[in-house]
Amino acid sequence: MANENIVIVINHAEIGQQLEQAVLRPAGYQATFIAERQPAEDLIRSNPPDLVIISDQLIDGDGLALVEQLMGSFPNLPFILFTSSYNPDLAVKALRMGFADYFYAPFSPGDAIAAIKHGLERRRRMEQWSRLEARRNTKNLQKRVDGLEALQRIGRSVTALLDLETVLTAVVDAAVELTGAEEGSLLLLDESSGELYMRAARNFQEDFVRTFRLPIRDTLAGQVLRTGKPITFDEKTPQKIKTAYLVHTLIYVPLQVHGRVIGVLGVDNRHTGHPFLEDHLTLVSALADYAAIAIDNARLYSRTEIERKKLETVLTHVEDGVIVVDYDGRLLLANDALRAAFGLVEDNLVGKPVRDIIQNVELLEILSDDKGMHPFRSEITLEDGRVFNAQMTPIPDVGLAVTMQDITHLKELDRIKSDFVSTVSHDLRSPLTAILGYVELIDRAGPVTDQQREFIRRVQFSVNNITALINDLLDLGRIEAGFDARKEIVPLPAIINYAVEGMRSRIEEKAHNVVLDVPDHLPPILGNPVRLRQLMGNLLGNSIKYTLHHGKITVSAQAEEGQIILRISDNGPGIPPSDQPYIFDKFYRASNVPSDTPGTGLGLAIVKSIVDNHQGRIWVDSTLGQGTTFTVVLPVADEDL
Ligand code: ADP
Repeated sequence: MANENIVIVINHAEIGQQLEQAVLRPAGYQATFIAERQPAEDLIRSNPPDLVIISDQLIDGDGLALVEQLMGSFPNLPFILFTSSYNPDLAVKALRMGFADYFYAPFSPGDAIAAIKHGLERRRRMEQWSRLEARRNTKNLQKRVDGLEALQRIGRSVTALLDLETVLTAVVDAAVELTGAEEGSLLLLDESSGELYMRAARNFQEDFVRTFRLPIRDTLAGQVLRTGKPITFDEKTPQKIKTAYLVHTLIYVPLQVHGRVIGVLGVDNRHTGHPFLEDHLTLVSALADYAAIAIDNARLYSRTEIERKKLETVLTHVEDGVIVVDYDGRLLLANDALRAAFGLVEDNLVGKPVRDIIQNVELLEILSDDKGMHPFRSEITLEDGRVFNAQMTPIPDVGLAVTMQDITHLKELDRIKSDFVSTVSHDLRSPLTAILGYVELIDRAGPVTDQQREFIRRVQFSVNNITALINDLLDLGRIEAGFDARKEIVPLPAIINYAVEGMRSRIEEKAHNVVLDVPDHLPPILGNPVRLRQLMGNLLGNSIKYTLHHGKITVSAQAEEGQIILRISDNGPGIPPSDQPYIFDKFYRASNVPSDTPGTGLGLAIVKSIVDNHQGRIWVDSTLGQGTTFTVVLPVADEDL
């Protein structure tokens, strides 16, 4: 071997050179002699040798003091003390400091070589020990890394896998492998019997696992379940767990879900006394947390799944058609009723564009999102004549849902009722005309008393009211039946002026101030002039009728983006918010109308029908005690006409 690098730091140049040249080099060592302290220190620090021979006195300092400093930086470097004469006290001091050996002048080459060999041997042993120690530490670290990796792996599987069986088995496997235990088990509480059963196990007999039942009372696992605290014990405290078997060492940790203990994860050694460490408890606890999360996830998932199935069954079997599409118009759900209505037979329609599946223009129109995200209602007529009431509802973060009820029978009833009302109204008109005629003749047949005259006036008033009602009903029947299909170009200002002039006497009677804000050059509309006059008359008539004396009524019109916007406002009593949705229904009168106010509740129904016939829209804005504004939007006539 030899060839080791040795630095000699001795104040006697002669002895130093002799050692270097005559003793060390011939023995095969690389030797360097330096007499001064500082260059010696620099050399040792920059290029650490395998051994240093140093004298207590240096030309420029204390050898022992230098060694003390160097030992801090190079704990494995052996130092050999050389003194110019035998000095046992100094030798003892040096050996206590940690010097490897000692020799003094005069010396034989054998003395020096023996000391060097001894020093190098010590160095070799220390290095070997360091290597072993490093290997041992690395092994420990590796074990920890393995543990962390296993935890990470299981953590990922908890979030990725919904199969509880796989996750729990992986948890028990990892607990056994990371702790080096003989066996492991995951016990869960059976709420109904109050006992623990084995949900997953490693290295237990299958029969044992299947039949395993452990009471909570007087058992260690039961204690963990009750207290929520882990239990560990080693060979010094062997105990009988449950009544079945004896273990030498064991770890039991609780499985907690939202603060409630639902089970126990355990590892044990039945045959050997292999001890469990603090680290093992931490690992098994972390694994127990994962198992608890997996069990909770599975519980939530199965609950959600049950709810989803319930909802799906309800949706599938309800008689109303239901269709849901996402924001891109792709089908998310179509229930049986809807499939039947539109003849959808294919199974895998989910995800397909609804336009490729359904041809019905009215439904596609409802499902197209250009109406904005507001719920609205419409009617859909199928090819076979069935009519559906379709309600569109936007569902945040999902898309649009449309529910459809079959109202064919209601439509039919409505038609029969309208026919009946028209026939009866028609038949009533002639007798009523006859009554009015004869009542007028009474006066001429002879003198009548004042009381009789009052009675005649009341009869005339009532018959006039009935006639007005019948006229309204007949009008409504005609408009709804589409008898007024013939349309012509109509200038709106003329219609408005006609209506206002026609009511001049009623306006003056109540001393209302009517303001017109209607430009002369409004674009014309395509419509039925008689019906448009009726529309204007009904709205203006209501304002005059419901607003108390000295009211202010404003009629305004303006053109905007191919539409005419007509507004009739008053500062009358207003309409209660709860009545507003119904005022366009037939015979509906708001709750704040005094009982002696004449009216049939048909005026606005007629207005609504006229607006619908003209492809327009109407709505009301009203505040109680402040006034009411009706807004009518009608399309401008096509310029080519
Ligand atoms: P009516 O024959 O009762 O006037 P309408 O169909 O014309 O029937 O109107 C329905 C109801 O709407 C009225 O009964 C009234 O309650 C309310 N209404 C209509 N216009 C006005 C208005 N300008 N001011 C207050 N309430 C109104």
